[in-house]
Amino acid sequence: MNSFDTRYEPVFPESGSDLGGMMHSRLPAETIHILESVAGCSSRVGIPAYAVGGPIRDLLLNRPVIDMDVVVEGDGIRFAAELASECRGKLVEYARFGTALVVMPGGIKVDVTTAREESYIKPGALPDVEPGTLEKDLFRRDFTINAMAIQLGPERFGCFIDLYGGISDLARGIIRVLHDGSFKDDPTRILRAIRFETRYGFTIEEGTAANLAESVEDGMLAEVSPQRLREEIVAILKEEGASAAVEHLNRSGVLSALFGDRFIYPDSVEDLFEKACSAADWYLEMAETIPLEELSKWRLRWLILMGGTAPEVTIDLSNRFHLGKSVAKAVGEVHERLPAIREYLSDGKDTAVSFIYRLMEGVSPEVLLYAAALAGRENTLEIIEHYLLEIRPIEAFVNGNDLKEIGVAEGPLMGEILRLLFDKQLDGVISSRNDAMEEARKLAHM
Ligand code: ATP
Ligand code: MG
Repeated sequence: MNSFDTRYEPVFPESGSDLGGMMHSRLPAETIHILESVAGCSSRVGIPAYAVGGPIRDLLLNRPVIDMDVVVEGDGIRFAAELASECRGKLVEYARFGTALVVMPGGIKVDVTTAREESYIKPGALPDVEPGTLEKDLFRRDFTINAMAIQLGPERFGCFIDLYGGISDLARGIIRVLHDGSFKDDPTRILRAIRFETRYGFTIEEGTAANLAESVEDGMLAEVSPQRLREEIVAILKEEGASAAVEHLNRSGVLSALFGDRFIYPDSVEDLFEKACSAADWYLEMAETIPLEELSKWRLRWLILMGGTAPEVTIDLSNRFHLGKSVAKAVGEVHERLPAIREYLSDGKDTAVSFIYRLMEGVSPEVLLYAAALAGRENTLEIIEHYLLEIRPIEAFVNGNDLKEIGVAEGPLMGEILRLLFDKQLDGVISSRNDAMEEARKLAHM
């Protein structure tokens, strides 16, 4: 499902050009098939339809294009229903905005929205939405490079539409808002500007940068709901170039606007992001062949970003931005478990297997890798691998039921005996179930 083919260079066509041929060569057959189905629906229902936004930008830059954003000049929900039934996709409606999502059988997602005009009653709040034309719809978008379209139907399939100078900004590598009030209308664009800047190595245009700085200064970010900010924070942390983005966010005062003055920007973010993420790549590769717990780079980067901030503040922020249970668990572990793991990994001393087991037992993979990045020694990943692949899967010779049979009641003593037995097993002191039972009897009757 990946259109990324290095044979192709970025292209910067003129508005009105026919991109049909280029779309056929660059996009996967499945995507072309979907776009042609959109075109088919468009002529059947008589509603003009366009592919818009990020996918157009990425197609022209020759970057991977997976999902599609479609705008129609008419009822988007009805159009999406038609498309879903034609392609046997699954329809998800969001009536409040006249938008719907069609999940295609192959997994490609097509967002279908009614072309709309937005007006912002209050900065940062969700806008009032009115049906509009493509022209108005493109004008309400964040940046010129995200405001280009390709007509799909009812006719002129593949006709490139650039009304606001997107192509010239794309060619010169410039992030530019469509109007001066843009960041005030929607301050999440502050984060988006910096995200696209780092992703593509672009420059934020001077006037746009001035608007951005002013909006940060004016505290506009405080007007946005934490849920909306969450999306953008996570999106930034998912970026390959997250460290440069985070660095820029910090320099421009965005991080302190978001996280308050109890947030402390940590040292060596770049170095830690890099080490931890290459460890994450190693882990994710292992996870392709061996069942391992899910790990996400964005959560790992969040832990690192919060590395200089007090535990209670980090917990508050993780909750405020709805970062979820896995983050909450990992944040707790960073403070309760990580220091000992890090110390052990930096020493590299030989130690009992049971010690490693107890040290790492139940700890999120993100926290293990963060500890490895902090320890910074060569073979830390080998130790973690040894734990994950060799130590953790070991099953205890005896369990609670076995102990009940020899008269141990459920309770703390039982827990303690099981633990002792398992430690001895891990350390090779006990090497069979019989030995374990014998030892259990001794411990039970002490
Ligand atoms: P990505 O590759 O990260 O998905 P994208 O440009 O597709 O980048 P999305 O968040 O998926 O970004 O949004 C899709 C499109 O919707 C954007 O290209 C842009 O045109 C528009 N858009 C998204 N968020 C905003 C916003 N806050 N303000 C204005 N337009 C927006
Ligand atoms: Mg997108």
